[in-house]
Amino acid sequence: ATFNELGLGELCLKAITDMGFETPSEVQEKAIPLLLEHDTDIVSLAQTGTGKTAAFGFPLIEKIDSTSKKTQGLILSPTRELCLQITTELKKYSKYIKGLNVVAIYGGASITDQARNVKKGAQILVATPGRMGDMIRRGMVDIREIDTCVLDEADEMLNMGFYEDITEILSDTPEEKNTWLFSATMPREVATIAKKFMSNPMEITV
Ligand code: AMP
Repeated sequence: ATFNELGLGELCLKAITDMGFETPSEVQEKAIPLLLEHDTDIVSLAQTGTGKTAAFGFPLIEKIDSTSKKTQGLILSPTRELCLQITTELKKYSKYIKGLNVVAIYGGASITDQARNVKKGAQILVATPGRMGDMIRRGMVDIREIDTCVLDEADEMLNMGFYEDITEILSDTPEEKNTWLFSATMPREVATIAKKFMSNPMEITV
């Protein structure tokens, strides 16, 4: 397949051309049309390096209303490095979409600076669970109206001891949102999160 056949809008396709992506990877070919067409939860077993950031990133961007400054999408990821990497990628994907802001939230950096960036209007937050929990408790972020939550590298997040933070964060989001879970492996803890917070997830394996 080609990127043109996946159902993405013109502005995303233009960004894809700029990045030099020629053909979609397997996870992109499976996830992008599915997520664009269906309001559904998904569980995807996908390793890093498979192109999963674009597999969830483009459908997420397409679902955002960039005329509203409300936070609409939340991506949770295990480390600061990954958070920054995903943020950089999403900014490239959305470079032609006016008014769309992506903000990274992670520990070890100024929480007031991050809160200020959120306050300017961030439709998408890319966060580590620890700092995200902290900012929720301090009332610095509002995720009560998000439509989509991505759990990236769910197995890693749970290995790092983020179970409590993740459950606290997810409990603060609307029941009707869609959750897109990506994990390289499916240990019991990941299955527990999926069971507790997701409804009839579609499965994508690559
Ligand atoms: P990820 O698995 O999301 O961390 O992506 C791994 C790397 O592959 C990143 O540097 C992406 O920019 C790149 N990439 C993702 N999708 C494609 C594609 N369809 N064609 C070429 N490179 C890609």
